[in-house]
Amino acid sequence: MSGTVYDLIVTNARIVYRDRILHGGIAVRDGKIAKLLKQDEEAAANRTIDVEERYVLPGLIDSHVHFRTPGYEHKENWHSASKAAAAGGVTTVLDMPNTNPYTDTVDRLRQKAALVHGQSYVDYGFHIGVAPGKAGALQALSRGEAASIKLFLTGHHTAKHIIDDEVELDYIFRLAADKGILLTLHAEDDFVLRLFRQTRYEPSGLTNYEAAYPRIGAIAAVARTLRLVRKHSTSVHVLHVSSAEEADLLDAAAAAGYPVTYETTAHQLWFDHASAEPLGTRAKLSPAIREPRDRERLWQSIAHGTLTSVGSDHAPHSIAEKSFAFHDAPPGLPGVQELLPALLTGLKRNLPALTREERLLTAARLLAAGPALRFGLDHQKGSIEAGLDADLLIVDDEKKWTVTTERVLSGSGWSAYEGLELEGEALVTIVRGHVVYDRGQFGEEIGERIPLRRELPDAFGRTAGSPYRVLA
Ligand SMILES: [Zn+2]
Repeated sequence: MSGTVYDLIVTNARIVYRDRILHGGIAVRDGKIAKLLKQDEEAAANRTIDVEERYVLPGLIDSHVHFRTPGYEHKENWHSASKAAAAGGVTTVLDMPNTNPYTDTVDRLRQKAALVHGQSYVDYGFHIGVAPGKAGALQALSRGEAASIKLFLTGHHTAKHIIDDEVELDYIFRLAADKGILLTLHAEDDFVLRLFRQTRYEPSGLTNYEAAYPRIGAIAAVARTLRLVRKHSTSVHVLHVSSAEEADLLDAAAAAGYPVTYETTAHQLWFDHASAEPLGTRAKLSPAIREPRDRERLWQSIAHGTLTSVGSDHAPHSIAEKSFAFHDAPPGLPGVQELLPALLTGLKRNLPALTREERLLTAARLLAAGPALRFGLDHQKGSIEAGLDADLLIVDDEKKWTVTTERVLSGSGWSAYEGLELEGEALVTIVRGHVVYDRGQFGEEIGERIPLRRELPDAFGRTAGSPYRVLA
């Protein structure tokens, strides 16, 4: 036996790779996956975790969170949010810019990074925002600094910087294409939604909320986006797709070779109009929750491999704010902790033809490899491969548990899934070889800002199409 002593070995595992699941072990040294071990291969280590035939997934990447730091810490703070992430098996988060101050310059990205350092259980990166009339600030941005440029095509209580001007949109799409930086979009058309607000009643509750923020707003914005992509060849990722028609449009565009991808959220896959109604303001969201046929269409995107990722869109508000009258209650819900179990439970219910292992492979694609490739983290994260960061998640995928207020770790203190039974639980979460979560116990706040790839992967360059081809 050679003299190598690893820092950590995860042994007796069923390892979820990109395209298969194999028995074996994972040897970790200096925060990296140093070697993949065969089933009975022995090696020496300072610490061994015998996972007793459980599945080990790559640490999850939640590419869409609002951790509310700085400026909105009464809703949530980075420490509690990253704790919720670790307990949910998430090892990397990409935070959205709508904090206060707005993260719309390179300096503010650096300030946010400095503020978060030492507070985070998980690794992190940032999306940069654009304030109207200030897109010129993006000239100073280089590819490695932001996971994407995030545009809000419409806004709401906590998203005040709407970009709707034709000339400004042209400028930003061009600039992003020239710099090779991804654009992420909240794609609902502000003009269309304002028309509805002017001419229709004010929604009094969830029952008539969707009618006032209808699907046509999202469809119009996606169509407009695709025209801009045709003009500038900008690489675009559409966030929280909520309707069947958006998915139809985006699938057609990707099949035609446009560099567009999309994600949805765990709550859009779980709830519809009717099932969300008892939640009242807690399920007031932007975009709105739609109909069963939309939910079903999004599951078909997963079945056909055209959906790149599922984000939590963890957007917490305090219970006090969510208790306001319907009109004043801000849209959004926390979800980083529930992301994996909601997806695993949903996969079993909605795609019953999948085997247990196919469900785990699908979860790993949507929550790790997919976002890693799309956001330029794949040189370091997103799959279990020698040389990559030792971000690992040991799961009990068959464990059934009920979401209760006591289990909620988000600083907001509530969950839209309260009272519901989910299947699948993160047992141990490891970030670069450090155990940050182990069955209710937490390690240290060792999260670091991740350097992003300088170049978008070729597969998502100017002419490539669907992520399906990349991940197949
Ligand atoms: Zn969001």
